[in-house]
Amino acid sequence: MEEAEFIWVNGEFVPWHDAKIHVLTHGLHYGTSVFEGIRAYDGELGTAVFRHREHLERLHESAGMFLMEIPYTVEEMQSATRELIVRNGLKHCYIRPIAMRGYGVMGLNPLEAPVDVVIAVWPWGAYLGEEGKAAGIRAKVSSWRRFGNDALIAHAKTSGQYLNSVLAKIESLKAGYDEAILLDVNGGVSEGSGENLFVVKNGVITEPPPTASVLDGITRRTIHALAAESGLVIESRSIARAELYLADEVFMTGTAAEVVPVREIDDRPVGTGLPGPITKKLQGMYDDVVNGRNPAHLDWLDPVVVGQG
Ligand code: PMP
Repeated sequence: MEEAEFIWVNGEFVPWHDAKIHVLTHGLHYGTSVFEGIRAYDGELGTAVFRHREHLERLHESAGMFLMEIPYTVEEMQSATRELIVRNGLKHCYIRPIAMRGYGVMGLNPLEAPVDVVIAVWPWGAYLGEEGKAAGIRAKVSSWRRFGNDALIAHAKTSGQYLNSVLAKIESLKAGYDEAILLDVNGGVSEGSGENLFVVKNGVITEPPPTASVLDGITRRTIHALAAESGLVIESRSIARAELYLADEVFMTGTAAEVVPVREIDDRPVGTGLPGPITKKLQGMYDDVVNGRNPAHLDWLDPVVVGQG
């Protein structure tokens, strides 16, 4: 990974290589951490963080569902992040806030462990590659099911839960694909290992419902708004695996991945095998909003002003 100069740790700006935790940190052993992935873009407003507040609100919600109280407000974390970007001299970057159950207790009860909060920023390009964004990626339906809503909390972005995604990601890469698509416990389509998924058929966009063990993605929410503005309908309902094979277009969304066409699933071409018109339209609209080129959505950008926290 590319490094930056400072990491924010519990309110202090610490040199990158000094940002360390104790080896008996609770979150390291039991996955009891919640985190976010956010991006800052160097667009028309200068450097600006996309949907900053929504991401940090989701961080607090993820923590709340695990009865963890983050000792910093959304506003405090927003201002710390802006200052961190300035101190690191970054124009655009990926932002990773994480709140973890810290050092002090062992065993599965985390409620007495302290909560440590860290924010790191660093330059990170397209998660599934520039080529993937332009030409589409090849995906494989994973043999690993997305965990059920009765086992873990898909709506929370919690470190331990990512072992499920890690298994699926490794399997897809080892088999020669770019990304995994996980089915839910009922066999319906759920999502990618780190992305939400949309299917397009006859001009209608469909996505798995909230009950299909999906994370409520911020990019997904953005696509909802942009689709509505383009007169496109998004249906939320259970999606059968075969619908992936019969789709005109499939695309994935995520902060790290952005909007990525899927050109092949399980060795079957999706539609023509080329990125389709609806995917390309939404991808272009997404690119415009994150870069401050859509005046109607400047409120989604939190500008980072040099000399100001
Ligand atoms: N699902 C999973 C499992 C993810 O890890 C992510 C990335 N955070 C997403 C969906 C997409 O969420 P977002 O658009 O908020 O990045």
